[in-house]
Amino acid sequence: MRSLLPALTALAMLTCAAAQTPAAAPVTAIRAGVLLDGKSDAPRRNQIIVIRGNRIESVGDAAAAKLPPGANLIDLSRATVLPGLIDSHTHIFLQGEDPAQGGYDANILKQPLAYRAARATVAARRALEQGFTTLRDVETEGAGYGDVGIKQAIADGIIPGPRLVVVTRAISTTGGYPLEGYAPELEMPKGVQIVDGPVEARQAARQQLDHGADWIKVYMTHRSWVGRNGELASQPTLTLEEIKAITDEVHGWGKKVACHAYSGIGLQRALDGGCDSIEHGLQMEDAVIAQMVRQGTWYCPTLGVYYLDWAPENTPAGRRDRLRVSAHAESFKKALKAGVKIVFGSDMGGIPWTEAIAPEFARMVDLGMPPADAIRSATSRAAEMLDLQGQIGVIAPGAYADLIAVAGDPLLDIKELEKVQFVMKDGKVVRSEEK
Ligand SMILES: [Zn+2]
Repeated sequence: MRSLLPALTALAMLTCAAAQTPAAAPVTAIRAGVLLDGKSDAPRRNQIIVIRGNRIESVGDAAAAKLPPGANLIDLSRATVLPGLIDSHTHIFLQGEDPAQGGYDANILKQPLAYRAARATVAARRALEQGFTTLRDVETEGAGYGDVGIKQAIADGIIPGPRLVVVTRAISTTGGYPLEGYAPELEMPKGVQIVDGPVEARQAARQQLDHGADWIKVYMTHRSWVGRNGELASQPTLTLEEIKAITDEVHGWGKKVACHAYSGIGLQRALDGGCDSIEHGLQMEDAVIAQMVRQGTWYCPTLGVYYLDWAPENTPAGRRDRLRVSAHAESFKKALKAGVKIVFGSDMGGIPWTEAIAPEFARMVDLGMPPADAIRSATSRAAEMLDLQGQIGVIAPGAYADLIAVAGDPLLDIKELEKVQFVMKDGKVVRSEEK
């Protein structure tokens, strides 16, 4: 009994310290000329957002609001304030696949892991500076569990970066992922963890979850070409039995499975196997879209990346590249009309990180998505997919203080999101071009 007392005292002190933290936390008040809260279609004018520590405490009319004493005032009265953006498909460990620089293979064959980690650090910072305060980063492309380390370094305040939701290594099958095309005598490294059979599939998911994966990423198709009937064909990878072993395991851990799936049998297996999000979905038939609506499957299209590096016209690869874009546009429009839950994803990393992320918004709006819907796809709707609703992607009491501001009205011109002037993450100003 005697030995318990100091422990209890220590516990009481700890509890006390924890209770004191919010009161001692810095208070910031942001005056927003226009507020788009990430959920509602309707902009609100002249609002005050009060932030205590790293959370939003209140949101209300500036005329009626009483500023907390000692609050640090940030004047964004000439700007539109939105929640920090969420990109649900990035690769911070990939740096474009410029053939002149050795393409995809050089990432794995030529770059030391520390070098790749250094570049991933820069990619993370770039995303944050562009207003993306959360990324679902969907595999490290041969850099193992590097994403878990970068996530930790950001969370610990060692480096600046967005909140990261990470998938670690990703999973495909033998013959289902690069590196490919080398002499068969060579045992080449792969950009993912290779599995064959439901036992190995389940084991890989367990290993990745054990080592810090927040989601599991599976490649359900590999490569693509123009099929005999002019369709976009792709090679299926995991069997239904294999993908079901993974989704069963991952769902048991309370987590979700993202499936790269272009078209055809592999896409069908992804849906029949219970995938939570379809990545890319280049050619989706009506029945596939109906199944996604029925099952509540998320769709992360990543439109822009398929406009890069087209092979010459009238070559097999050139025809394939053009078909990918046209089929994708049709699939996107049908999915939008059918009410599939669409989230914003750029596939940055497939696009060099020196490029901007936000032009993906204009691609979606050009295909018929209303700007308010496009904004939700990168805010509250993405938060819902990530099971972080109310925490991120919204400006409301209790949410993390992740906010951005732009000068113009993104409901009128979605390209305003390409010119983010102010970024706050976790209550701290990351970027400010306002006086
Ligand atoms: Zn990708």
